[in-house]
Amino acid sequence: MRKKIVAGNWKMNMDYTSGVSLFSEIINMIKDEVRGDQEVIVCPPFVHLHSLVQLANQHPKISIGAQNCHQADAGAYTGEISAAMIKSIGSEYVILGHSERRQYFAESNELLAKKTDMVLKNGLKPIFCIGETLEERNSNIHFDVIKTQLAEGVFHLTAEDFANVVLAYEPVWAIGTGVTASPEQAQEVHAFIRKEIESRYGDAIADNTTILYGGSCNPGNAPELFSQKDIDGGLIGGASLKSRDFTEIVKVFN
Ligand code: 13P
Repeated sequence: MRKKIVAGNWKMNMDYTSGVSLFSEIINMIKDEVRGDQEVIVCPPFVHLHSLVQLANQHPKISIGAQNCHQADAGAYTGEISAAMIKSIGSEYVILGHSERRQYFAESNELLAKKTDMVLKNGLKPIFCIGETLEERNSNIHFDVIKTQLAEGVFHLTAEDFANVVLAYEPVWAIGTGVTASPEQAQEVHAFIRKEIESRYGDAIADNTTILYGGSCNPGNAPELFSQKDIDGGLIGGASLKSRDFTEIVKVFN
C-alpha cells in the first residue's frame, strides 16, 4: 500500500526562534497521531533544517525536507545549497518544481530533471510539484501541461529511482488564494497522473506512488479531498504555519 503523507511547506516564513518553537509544538501535538503507513514531513527554510532534524529524530514517522537545492555537486555557486549538504544534516526530502520556483526563479522542466537526479543521487527523496495555471485550465490544456511536466521532469528516471519520488499536484490558481480545487477536479487530475505513471512504469509502481494535493488545503476541506481514491495526502502551505490547523489535517487519516 502506498504511503499517506501530510507535508508542510513553510516557504519563506518564520525566523529561527519561532520556527523551532512552532515545530516543537507540532511534534507534541502530532506525535501520537501519525499511524501505520502515514508520514508527516515538514519543509522549513534552510536555516531551520538542522535543528528540526534533531527535534524530529526520536519520531520515525516525522521527517524533514528542504524546499530547494542546486543541480550541481558542489562549486562556485554563491548562495546555493547542494543536495549533499542537505543529506549531510539528516534531512530526507527536497521539494522540487514548486510553481513559485518555476514562476519567480524561471525553473524549467529541464533544470528540474537535473535537480531531481542530484537529489536521488544523494539518497534524498524529491517531492516533485506539478500543476497548471488558471489560464492553462481555462484554455483546457491542463492535462497537456501536466503530461509535459511529468515527461520532462521525472519520466527519464529508472523505475528504481522513480519509486523514491513523491508527486504533488498543485494547481497554481489554488495556491495561497483560498480557492481550492474541488475534490472532483483534484481527483480527476490525480487519476490522470496515475494513468501517466502506469503507461511509463506499469501498474505496480503507479499503485505505489504517493500523489499529494496542494493548494489552499485546510482542516475544513482536507477530509473530502483526502478521501478521494487517488489523493494520498496534502502539501500544505499557509495552514502548516498554524500548529492546530496542521495537526487537524494530519489527523484526517486517523
Ligand atoms: P497554500 O496551502 O498556502 O495554498 O500553499 C500550497 C503550497 O504551495 C504548498 O506547497
